[in-house]
Amino acid sequence: MNLNGKKVAVLGCGRSGIGAARLALAKGAADVCIFDANPGATCSDTSITCHPGATEEDARAYAANLVVLSPGIEADIPWTLAFTAAGAPIIAETELAFHYYPGRIIAVTGTNGKTTTTALIEHILKTSGRTAIACGNYGFPLSEVDLLDPIPDFAVLEVSSFQMETIVNFRPEVAIWLNFAPDHMDRYRRVEDYYNAKRRIFENMTEDQIAIVRVGEKLPGLKPRRIEFSAVTGSGELYYQNGCIMENGHMLMPLRGTAMEQAHNAENTMAATLACRAVGLSDSAIAQAVHSFTPPGHRCETVAEIDGILWLNDSKSTNLHSTEAAVRSQTRPVILIAGGKDKGLDYSALNPMLEQKARLCIVFGQIAAQLEQTFTPACRTLRCQTVEEAVTLAAQNAAKGDVVLFSPGTSSFDQFTGYVQRGNCYREAVRRTLHL
Ligand code: ADP
Repeated sequence: MNLNGKKVAVLGCGRSGIGAARLALAKGAADVCIFDANPGATCSDTSITCHPGATEEDARAYAANLVVLSPGIEADIPWTLAFTAAGAPIIAETELAFHYYPGRIIAVTGTNGKTTTTALIEHILKTSGRTAIACGNYGFPLSEVDLLDPIPDFAVLEVSSFQMETIVNFRPEVAIWLNFAPDHMDRYRRVEDYYNAKRRIFENMTEDQIAIVRVGEKLPGLKPRRIEFSAVTGSGELYYQNGCIMENGHMLMPLRGTAMEQAHNAENTMAATLACRAVGLSDSAIAQAVHSFTPPGHRCETVAEIDGILWLNDSKSTNLHSTEAAVRSQTRPVILIAGGKDKGLDYSALNPMLEQKARLCIVFGQIAAQLEQTFTPACRTLRCQTVEEAVTLAAQNAAKGDVVLFSPGTSSFDQFTGYVQRGNCYREAVRRTLHL
């Protein structure tokens, strides 16, 4: 890829778009413009030309040589395709950044657990004296990593399906596939489209590279060497038993008492361990780092434990699968608080888990009525409007020994700006209700 003298259209004015534009300019592009369909879009870097409210006509008039796509923008909509009218290829921001990144890439994908695992790997690498940066979907685009001085030796790249849709040569040294479950059905027409986009993470990898995969994931015909882990079966190179990560019948790492003790976090830890081993770290260095790790907030985080009732904030749960994992990981009777925006998901798959583990569901938000109807056959269910009301109902119904699990199972945009605001609202409501 030679950008000298080229006209580059970057689509999307968010962090990835700005990163891509900066990188393209630094690598010699003659003309770089960020286009956004939103008339109110602004670019925080005033040295970059930005065209808010761009139409398809504007797109054709620009006649780009290369189109770089932010993950938030779909590749096959007429607006995007208008930029390719003069024959320009479309590539993902990740692809552009990959081309210029000189270090080693550990890529992490999955429907759930990406951020936790990415943060853990970065923590282990740094604790072991390596230079590393968590990036990609994590918030800091890989394009910006290319512009750092010095550039860290390792990029731990959180990868979403959106970023993989328009890769060409992207190829990590190690790729982790944590799990797969239907999600983003507001973007994809079919579950297969979501799966196929995600699976492209392995597309250019070869036999001397490593795929780290949860036991039972349907990924036939992988080219890289496949290493597996499991928290539910005794198979796989690493597995989880009685609070310990095990290998061949021997205890490798106790997790009891660490922040990674719950089963879904044990999976994340096993994946991170295998990845760090693959790039040359010792088991003892990895184990030591795991013990000092604090996962990012809003992910099954303890808000309070009062009168024998544990209050957990899992606001980051934005799909059915993460809520199911959170419920499964609990060892106490569960009062589940779930609800939010309608993303087109069918929640009936949660019922067997609710029957087993939950003694009450409290549902709120746009999908409250749908959830009430779905969950009622499996578990007593109460409906309300807001998170605050849900907390009040939970406090009225909780008994000693219960866990109140706020794990919404869908996105928050019907009532909040995002999962952080939603989680903070829950935390505050719990503190107010419990007079903390
Ligand atoms: P992502 O970046 O993929 O959204 P996060 O680490 O932010 O993942 O966690 C998102 C949600 O998924 C949280 O609710 C968390 O409790 C849950 N979760 C974390 N790890 C896993 C896992 N391995 N399997 C299922 N759910 C998980």
